Amino acid sequence: MIYGATRSLPIVVLASTLAAIAVDRSAREADGVVRAAPVEDATMERQTSALGHDVTPLSSEEVARLAAQLDPEAFRVTQRAGTEPAFCGQLLHNHEEGVYTCAVCDLPLFSSDDKFDSGTGWPSFTGPVDGQHVVERRDVSHGMVRTEVSCARCDAHLGHVFRDGPKPSRMRYCLNSAAMDFVPEGDPPAQSDATAAPSDS
Ligand SMILES: [Zn+2]
Repeated sequence: MIYGATRSLPIVVLASTLAAIAVDRSAREADGVVRAAPVEDATMERQTSALGHDVTPLSSEEVARLAAQLDPEAFRVTQRAGTEPAFCGQLLHNHEEGVYTCAVCDLPLFSSDDKFDSGTGWPSFTGPVDGQHVVERRDVSHGMVRTEVSCARCDAHLGHVFRDGPKPSRMRYCLNSAAMDFVPEGDPPAQSDATAAPSDS
């Protein structure tokens, strides 16, 4: 019995191979077009924030490409979790109406509506424009227990958040000017080429 089964195996293999070729040919000949495999990675699900922005985390390669365009101070702050000296940031005394965006990927992060003078020497806000645009993590560096704030899309270090802000949120997002760009109200939002939100949403 074993001998017989073994002997019939090549025939089975041949038959299945011919069947596969037949299926392949019929697929190709249906409209005469051979289509390339879909490029998009089906495992990477697009994430959209409540404000309608694409907050899908960028690949490390894409972050590196965008970060290479930063000036040295913005690179140090966003990519090395640096802190700019107090009272030196360009956006500290900015009182214009507008939106503060990520210096790396242009995601809108904070609004002038939520900016306040904390007296600390760093731009301070009571909250982000959308909670899904930032991520907060416990940070125990420099002998302190703090909560680090980073961009949800490109993971750029932005600053820290403390629970000693004004009412009603009581939150104080203490940020580095170098980690953000300012877009005055009425200006078209800046969009880095790889990170524009889908326009059909
Ligand atoms: Zn970003």
